[in-house]
Amino acid sequence: MEEKKETGRRRPLIAGNWKMFKTSAEAVETASALAKMTASATGRDILIAPPFTALQAVSAAIAGTGIDLCAQNVHWENQGAWTGEVSAPMLTSVGCKYVIIGHSERRQYFGETDDGVNQKIRSAIHAGLMPILCVGETEDQRKSNKTFSILDKQTLKGLEKLALGSLENLVIAYEPVWAIGTGKTATTEQAQDVHGYIRGLIEKNFGKALAKSMRILYGGSVKPSNINRLMEMPDIDGALVGGASLDAGTFSEIACYTAH
Ligand code: PEP
Repeated sequence: MEEKKETGRRRPLIAGNWKMFKTSAEAVETASALAKMTASATGRDILIAPPFTALQAVSAAIAGTGIDLCAQNVHWENQGAWTGEVSAPMLTSVGCKYVIIGHSERRQYFGETDDGVNQKIRSAIHAGLMPILCVGETEDQRKSNKTFSILDKQTLKGLEKLALGSLENLVIAYEPVWAIGTGKTATTEQAQDVHGYIRGLIEKNFGKALAKSMRILYGGSVKPSNINRLMEMPDIDGALVGGASLDAGTFSEIACYTAH
């Protein structure tokens, strides 16, 4: 806790993933309301990830506010015959600053692999986007004590062949799959344990400086009632919020957390 405060090295990040919810008009309405409600929240970054169809309109609605724009996925090529896909330069062209990569729903329902995640991260970094790499174990993997080996694989394969200098804007989101959209939240101790482990993994493979500066978010049923406890943990630098980010009032309560 002290370290976060003293060094100011890791600026907290509260991210809202709107998944496949909201038309463009609905997204603009929520984003505009959120911008007003969070105007006084300082010392943190706040982002929203609307569906592709709403990115451009939301980008205009949040211009000049403190809220950043994020996409939920990206293709690894810049352009080509990839029907239905969207590339990193297309995302930057509508004002995206971040992109979520390897969300468990994409791994589970769209067959996304660690190799594909790695290609997407490289493409995002090349285009100047800040990738949010999602990692996390399923309930079965946790029960059979595979949590750390799964995190090793997802993190290290995801970051394979990436130069140290290119990783400074990368964010990792630890999202235990069993806690996403289920109402079950990892205890703060469980989350801190894993965050500490991931930071150690980054240190071992990429060095102390990157480990110290890398932001690691927690995701999985984050709500106004648990954000403060989570944010008190020394290795939790923010939250990736799904369901509770859809309502401007609820998400602003999370984004305006008061813990140090
Ligand atoms: C997510 O989808 O990244 C997520 C954490 O969802 P929820 O907050 O609804 O559990």
